[in-house]
Amino acid sequence: MRRLAAPVLVLAFIGVAIADIKIGGLLEAGEDIVEMAFNSAVERINTHGLAEPGERYTPTSDRLLTRVEHIERSDSFQASRKVCTLLEEGVAAVFGPQSTDASFAVRSACETLDVPHIETHWDYRSRTTNHSLNLYPHPSALGKAYLDFIKYKDWKNFAILYEENDALVRLQEILKDATLMKENRVTVRQFEPGTEYRKTLKDIGKTGIKNIVLDVPIKSLYTVLKHAQQVDMMSEYHNYFITSLDAHTIDTEDFQYGGTNISAFRLIDFSSKEIDEVARDWIQRRHRFSSKKSSSVQSFNTGDQDFYKNLTTKVALMYDAVRLFATALKDLHPDTGPKITVQPLSCEREHKWSQGNAFVKYMRMINIKGLTGNIRFNKDGHRTDMRLTVLDMAHSGWREAGEWTMLGGINITTNYTRELEEARLSLLNKTLVVTTILQPPYVMYKEKWRELGLTGNDKYEGYCIDLLDSIASSEHFINNMKYVIREVADHSYGGRDADGRWNGMIGELLNGKADLAVADLTITYVREEAVDFTMPFMTLGISILYKKTAKPPPGLFSFLDPLSLEVWIYMMTAFLGVSLFLFVLARFSPYEWVNPHPCEGNPEELDNQFTIWNTLWFTIGCLMQQGCDVTPRALSTRVAAGMWWFFTLIMVSSYTANLAAFLTVERLVSPIESVEDLAKQTTIQYGCLRSGSTQSFFKDSQFPTYAKMWHVMQSQRPTVFAESNQKGIDRVLRGKYAYLMESTSIEYNIERNCDLTQIGSLLDNKGYGIATPPGSPYRTMLSQAILRLQENGDLHVLKERWWKKQRITKKCPKDIINKGTSAMTVASVGGVFIVLLVGSCVAVISAIIEFIWRAKKIVPEERDPLCVELCRELKFTLTCGSKKPLARPRSDENLAIAATDNGMPFMPITGFGLHNKNTFS
Ligand code: GLU
Repeated sequence: MRRLAAPVLVLAFIGVAIADIKIGGLLEAGEDIVEMAFNSAVERINTHGLAEPGERYTPTSDRLLTRVEHIERSDSFQASRKVCTLLEEGVAAVFGPQSTDASFAVRSACETLDVPHIETHWDYRSRTTNHSLNLYPHPSALGKAYLDFIKYKDWKNFAILYEENDALVRLQEILKDATLMKENRVTVRQFEPGTEYRKTLKDIGKTGIKNIVLDVPIKSLYTVLKHAQQVDMMSEYHNYFITSLDAHTIDTEDFQYGGTNISAFRLIDFSSKEIDEVARDWIQRRHRFSSKKSSSVQSFNTGDQDFYKNLTTKVALMYDAVRLFATALKDLHPDTGPKITVQPLSCEREHKWSQGNAFVKYMRMINIKGLTGNIRFNKDGHRTDMRLTVLDMAHSGWREAGEWTMLGGINITTNYTRELEEARLSLLNKTLVVTTILQPPYVMYKEKWRELGLTGNDKYEGYCIDLLDSIASSEHFINNMKYVIREVADHSYGGRDADGRWNGMIGELLNGKADLAVADLTITYVREEAVDFTMPFMTLGISILYKKTAKPPPGLFSFLDPLSLEVWIYMMTAFLGVSLFLFVLARFSPYEWVNPHPCEGNPEELDNQFTIWNTLWFTIGCLMQQGCDVTPRALSTRVAAGMWWFFTLIMVSSYTANLAAFLTVERLVSPIESVEDLAKQTTIQYGCLRSGSTQSFFKDSQFPTYAKMWHVMQSQRPTVFAESNQKGIDRVLRGKYAYLMESTSIEYNIERNCDLTQIGSLLDNKGYGIATPPGSPYRTMLSQAILRLQENGDLHVLKERWWKKQRITKKCPKDIINKGTSAMTVASVGGVFIVLLVGSCVAVISAIIEFIWRAKKIVPEERDPLCVELCRELKFTLTCGSKKPLARPRSDENLAIAATDNGMPFMPITGFGLHNKNTFS
């Protein structure tokens, strides 16, 4: 290289158009691969031109020559000396170095002499100058990408763990975000100096934070992750986001199988066309290199896979930087265009390169595709149109999960099938810890488990145990899900204390003590915010468990029960009313008056069988369904009697039917019939389970009745909250206490204890589900298994088994509590009374018609006007006598009427013109 440099220098110095352009590289110790990338980029350009793979070869007009100077890491003094050496040799651009301080020194020298300085490292001090260009994404753009990712993940809380102070600048977009900081969701901790990361990680673990943003140099990343694993901070519920763009280069073997969610960004575009050719080229170079400098290629010495593993961002950026430079050079130096002339410059003299500024400006304007994606700059010289690949740790190592672009933000392409497969695989060598609570019939000890020496999972049985077993053996798990059952330490389902900390099974899930909570655990909104639930496997609601009211002794007058008192009174009134009505009607109707001695052709008086006593006897006889020897003769009385018979038919049938029900049904009169009754009274206390969802239901309810009940429950001393359902039930059995319990448990208990009953309907509707820590990978599989069991009817079979068959010592006699059987009210029999009334009206009309009909047949000379006759007859009717004297002498015509009228031989002849000659028979 040095041999080639001399003629170029001479040509450049005399201002002649040159064919070879020299570029300088300042590389720090340990950057052999960067150097290789630098050289290989130049060689490829010289041999293949700038054509992309598949494109036609277009040779560049100039040959590029490299001039590399090595410096110690972060040695700015050495850097400033070496850059002068390079400039004196007449380089067209200076590439590197990588460390911020050294680069700063180089930038100053280049700025003075207007030589392009091309940087490829993260630099928070990067500012706009006319002669420099940084291919590394600008800190604010990267910060935005980090923030977008955190927001996409929607972590409720997370910790930022960092090693170097630069991290705070890198993550300032997150730290500045008002919403994240306001809700106190971020904990920031710096690792203590040195390589001991365990303590800080452990401290974070103790706080329960499971989401971590990790900002450590790539060389420490493996150790930090390893330490996290050692302090139990690498479970499947932990999420790590690594800010380094080189996370893909670490050895992931140890972290692939734990199921921990590790994500990172990668700037290098592994799908770029060029990358495979570069890989091939570098692997060939490796062989050449290894023979010369065996030590320098230690980290890049095995197969293709290693090429990708060793391709760090700075290596790719160096390669892209050279290509960018070459593209600009080619564009500015076409055969017809202006010639680029490079000349040696001295740091001592302030003689600048006249074309430097224009060259950098042009580089900012062009757009190329490189190993790090699309390379384009904004007017400030910062990379724009940038794309980062989102990586996720899977069983097979890193996998691409989405991308982040400056315009589109984060876009994760979730592949559920792949995620499910990952979760399934991670279960292969894992035994899940299942937390549960003893609660019949969900989880119980087997009878005689002690005598039988049963331990572990074997000592439990119940609905939830069978459910767990069915899920574990379902096809959703490879080789059956392995689990160990542990009873929850504090015997609680899960509630939040005043500090917002969860206890019970929910607490155990959150503290990492359990992987699943399988019990009669209710899915509630607040719990769902803290943990994840599967699909519900049972639905239920809150109801009231109460002691059955003792059966009242059979009453002496129970026969009166089928009809309400009101109806009885109406019946009596109807009986008296109809009797009186019939009596009056019979007296008024001319056809009810008969000759008492039929053999005697011309009687003195007529007889009426419907005396007041006979009428009462008639109506009571009909009512009792016994009949009577008094029978109506006239149409009107027959209509009235018919209506009464119809009335009695309906009433007696209704009474009989209702009586049958009353005799067979035990009517338990409970002092409370509903939750409203409970809320209204003060003699019966009521309560529910402590720290359960029922308690939360009342505590959080805005509904006035329930809010009032919560108030009352809270104020009661001693407490009305039971420590377990069994204690609540015992208290119910002691009396004067109602226990608000979940309907499925009520159902189970009333099936086994005949003294218990459910009062009222359900207060709400909810379900039991299996809970998992937030973000658990197993939730989908569990839900799928539950759905399958539900569709197969297996859940129904399980319910029948544990509710209706298992552990039933005696069967409670079925209470035929037909709550609908109650005394009949007027509302149900009112119609019959109306029919009776209408019938009576019809009878009255018939009586009047009968009267008029009969009157019309009498010879007009022998009768008074019709109204006079009517009034007279009415007057007589009301005198109550059952004999009616015949005062009017009969004409032959009248006698003839009497003989033919109605065709009824027994029909009496009315005595028109009869005057107050009444006698009672
Ligand atoms: N199933 C309830 C829970 O998950 C416990 C019983 C209750 O509160 O009534 O909290």
